[in-house]
Amino acid sequence: MDIKLNQTISTVSKNLGLRYKTVSDYYPYKSIKNTARVKNGVLYVKVSDKLKDAPNEIIEALGYVLLSKIKGNRVPPRYKRTYNDYIHSIIISESPGETKGFHDPHGNYFNLEEIFNSVNTKFFTNDLPKPFLRWSKKRAYRIFGRYDRSKNEIVVSKLLDENKTPIYVVEYIMYHEMLHIKHGFSYKKGRRRIHTSAFKKEEEKFPYYKESIEYLKKASGKERRFLS
Ligand SMILES: [Zn+2]
Repeated sequence: MDIKLNQTISTVSKNLGLRYKTVSDYYPYKSIKNTARVKNGVLYVKVSDKLKDAPNEIIEALGYVLLSKIKGNRVPPRYKRTYNDYIHSIIISESPGETKGFHDPHGNYFNLEEIFNSVNTKFFTNDLPKPFLRWSKKRAYRIFGRYDRSKNEIVVSKLLDENKTPIYVVEYIMYHEMLHIKHGFSYKKGRRRIHTSAFKKEEEKFPYYKESIEYLKKASGKERRFLS
């Protein structure tokens, strides 16, 4: 039994008015799967070991998702959202064959490692640890950049690895994703907040902020969210 996991689960259980003894543990499931069932008056909760590094808020949210069903209650949407949000960040780039051997920062025109280093020097006094850096496999046009905390990697859309892309645009994306490393996440009322006002304020300090946004808007063809 995992003591810390079980503490969180039994707190949720009590909050929902359940009276079972709880036994919770992590399991090395191949996919992200979590189960809860009652047997002989004991509530057994099995959680995928892919969630071992998840913040407590996530485990708590998962607890509400699983135990509301046991209780026969509707799952509160905010817990579902918090949990799903986190899972999404874990699986988004975990399709088969994509996880290994693709941490190559070299593109055809830009080297993400050089860009990371120069942005780190210019804006972060070289304080940020270097994550894995790679180009996306597909020419993603909607999401140009992504920082995946569970994998410690920054992915930049291959669409931008072109001669015509101004270097400041790639630097801006790198800068945005590096701000995620610096600021982390905060949780408010069970919801993950990543683009906080402090984040945005610092983001706007990038010298080519407006130009970069304009360029990315045109490249995406749509005025939608294009950085995650
Ligand atoms: Zn972002």
